[in-house]
Amino acid sequence: MASTSVRYDSQNIFAKILKKEIPAKTIYENEYVLAFHDVAPKAPIHALVIPKNPYTSYADFSQRAAPEEIVAFTKAVAHVANLLGLDKDGYRIISNIGRNSGQEVFHFHFHILGGKKLPFA
Ligand code: IMP
Repeated sequence: MASTSVRYDSQNIFAKILKKEIPAKTIYENEYVLAFHDVAPKAPIHALVIPKNPYTSYADFSQRAAPEEIVAFTKAVAHVANLLGLDKDGYRIISNIGRNSGQEVFHFHFHILGGKKLPFA
C-alpha cells in the first residue's frame, strides 16, 4: 500500500492528544496546529508539530489540506522553533513518511530537533 493511501486511524496517539484523552506538554497551539514536546526526545530539544485535521503523513497533507492550512502549518513550524530559542543556532525539521522512513504515528507531524550540533542524518 502506498504511504499516501494509509487509512487514518482516529485512535492513533496524536489523535488522542488532540482530543485531550492523553496529556502532552504543549508548546504552541492555534486554530490549525498543535505543537508539543516529544515524549522520547532524540535531541536536547525535540518538538512535534501536528495539524489538527486528520492526515496520515506529509504526502497526504500536501494533497488534501487547504492552502490556508498549509500556510498556517508552515509558519507555525518556524514559530515554534523560535519559541524554543532554536533560531539562533539552527535546527532540523524531519517528517517520516511511510514504512521505509520508520514512521510510527500515522498522524502527519514535523519533528523539530535542536539544542546541540546534530549528527548528519
Ligand atoms: P515518527 O516515527 O516520525 O512517527 O515519530 C513519532 C514520534 O512520536 C516519536 O519521536 C515518539 O517518541 C513520539 N511520541 C509517541 N508517543 C508520544 C506521546 O504520547 N507524546 C509525545 N510524543 C510521542
